[in-house]
Amino acid sequence: MSRRDEIRQGLQQVNDRIERAAGDAGRDPAELTLVVITKYFPASDVALLAELGVGHVGENKDQEAATKVAELDPAVRDALTVHFVGQLQTNKARSVARYADVVHSVDRPRLARALDKAVANAVQAGERAGDLNLLLQIDLEQKERAGRGGVLPEDLPALVESVTAAERLRLRGVMAVAPPALDADGTRAAFDRLMECSRQVREEVPDAGWVSAGMSGDLELAVAAGATHLRVGSAILGSRPTSR
Ligand SMILES: *Cc1c(COP(=O)(O)O)cnc(C)c1O
Repeated sequence: MSRRDEIRQGLQQVNDRIERAAGDAGRDPAELTLVVITKYFPASDVALLAELGVGHVGENKDQEAATKVAELDPAVRDALTVHFVGQLQTNKARSVARYADVVHSVDRPRLARALDKAVANAVQAGERAGDLNLLLQIDLEQKERAGRGGVLPEDLPALVESVTAAERLRLRGVMAVAPPALDADGTRAAFDRLMECSRQVREEVPDAGWVSAGMSGDLELAVAAGATHLRVGSAILGSRPTSR
């Protein structure tokens, strides 16, 4: 099978799962945005995804993302919304501001301030057109922090305040990765905590209604909980060379 057919098949399977999950949850599939996570896969796969009608792709490492986006044909790049979903160091803000349309992983005021400044500089330098959309990553672990990133729910109000004070950042909602090794009930409970954080954010910013949750293994549970953005990699592109 050609790579194009492989990807077409994976995409078809995932879109079928999303439609079924939306139907089961009584939701309109049109409310759901599929973000295909292309980490570890080459720019040629991103181009195939765009050809097959995908409008949103995501990456989780700055250096890999910067290189890959630069390799895309400009028409392909312009047709895509590029999401950054990985943990982000403050010193990478300037780079991410050059190519990202949405950042899902803002979890501390210092990072928000660095991104705000980086976006202003990138706009001034003609490297990007406008404001950066962002989501606040919530830590859904209940025990010790596993270091996967995210703001603890109790620290969320201060983070919302720092983002709404920024000039170049547009707060769109929240994001989370379900803690690993949970059964379905544990994952449901974690996504419910995320939805509670989403409600808190919407009290301050009513149109910040995006909820980014759900990956290859748990997208049905995320749709049932109320996710709007699904981040799916391996179910579409195949297993990655190594997992992280
Ligand atoms: C890799 C990744 C995904 C996609 O994971 P799959 O299990 O391959 O679907 C989603 N979100 C984040 C933050 C990721 O790093």
